[in-house]
Amino acid sequence: MLKRILTIIYPRRCVLCRSAVTPAQTAERDLCHACEKDLSLVQQACFQCGIALTGTHEKQLCGQCLQTKPFYDQVISIYHYQNPMIWLIQQMKFHNKILYAHLLAQLMTKHLIERQRKHQLPLPDVIIPVPLHYQRRFHRGFNQAEELSKHIAKHLNCPLDTRFVQRPVNSAQQSGLDAKLRKKNVKGIFSLSRAQQKRYQHVAIVDDVMSTGSTVNEVARLLKKNGIKKVDVWVLARASRD
Ligand SMILES: [Zn+2]
Ligand SMILES: [Zn+2]
Repeated sequence: MLKRILTIIYPRRCVLCRSAVTPAQTAERDLCHACEKDLSLVQQACFQCGIALTGTHEKQLCGQCLQTKPFYDQVISIYHYQNPMIWLIQQMKFHNKILYAHLLAQLMTKHLIERQRKHQLPLPDVIIPVPLHYQRRFHRGFNQAEELSKHIAKHLNCPLDTRFVQRPVNSAQQSGLDAKLRKKNVKGIFSLSRAQQKRYQHVAIVDDVMSTGSTVNEVARLLKKNGIKKVDVWVLARASRD
């Protein structure tokens, strides 16, 4: 009752266009239908790295994956890293707005479930967010990949492990570095928690944005080196490599 009165006094507003949204319209998301439609979904992509491609084969690979095979097995990328998605992600990451993390987690989960059903993808044993170094996490107040993962894990009914992969090295920000430097920048920065050695076979790594893929590839390299058989990567937004 109180919730209903509050909704009348303070209607929920779409975070993009500020129009009032009703819960029935948006499944309790602070985004109206029209603005959700404006977010560009990745339709055709390289099976392995998730970069947008124009072909129509289901398991097509891009030139780069044909040349150098990444350590991860399959990327599922939901949106193109374009505005207004860029703006939403920046609000979440740099303006410390957890509200946006919840909204983006809802959208990502909805599409992951759709893809998972459509392609009958096997669920991983565990979902692992790309960790942040503790100093960066402290400054931001939360890890965006972890916020996305929590929601996904709950709705896919899949275990979540936020401690298995650790990030003891505080590397420089990837943005602003070219592909070669990005690869070098993340080399050896992750480790596995010894106290938590688990027998996972199939893992899904979750991150908000993927561009060159160096970060998730470094996590995948470590997981594969430690005997994990299959590593999927789920990303909210896929940028081009440059
Ligand atoms: Zn709107
Ligand atoms: Zn590829």
